[in-house]
Amino acid sequence: MKNDYDKFLDKIEEIKKLDEKPTLLLHTCCALCFSSAYMQLKDYFHITVFYYNPNIYPLDEYEKRKNEVIRMIDIFNNEYHTDVKFIESIDKFDYYKNKKIHLKGCMDCFHLRLMKSFMYANDNKYDYFTTTLTVGRLKNSNLLNRIGESLQPMFENTKYLFSDFKKNGGINISLRCKEKYNIYTQCYCGCEPHYQENK
Ligand code: SF4
Repeated sequence: MKNDYDKFLDKIEEIKKLDEKPTLLLHTCCALCFSSAYMQLKDYFHITVFYYNPNIYPLDEYEKRKNEVIRMIDIFNNEYHTDVKFIESIDKFDYYKNKKIHLKGCMDCFHLRLMKSFMYANDNKYDYFTTTLTVGRLKNSNLLNRIGESLQPMFENTKYLFSDFKKNGGINISLRCKEKYNIYTQCYCGCEPHYQENK
């Protein structure tokens, strides 16, 4: 049976035969994860980065990560002649912060971010949607892909792109980019409890 990474590779083979690159909305949490996903996707998609992360605490950390993603997009677009765009969404941030969704656990935190991003991709008719979260060493790619798969029936314009950006040296790609571009990295995932544990 094919795993999620096999499905990703099959899709890339299918896309290579197309005359035009499809569009991809790429949910992104930080520049380090973005760098690896970008290197694995840039030749096959017109990428738009979607920064939707109401979980990141405190606000200055949120801004720091966002600005680092923007910096890396500029560098990569210049260096590799790509046209990656950046969109930030703060839709219903207060509502989700008040509900303290992140305190309910990683599954709800993943689900919220994927659902909102998938919704945006579908409303704006992107061909594909996926997330850089599968790069994270401690992030469960299987869980992320099952969430993406379970959301698919709600969205008819956009297909979920299965991914496992950790595979095939994905973490090392991030580490090489970190070294080369001096990418800011954080010592915690994002939410307030995780911040308190690691500060
Ligand atoms: S550890 Fe990360 S994924 Fe889990 S709830 Fe906190 S911010 Fe979300």
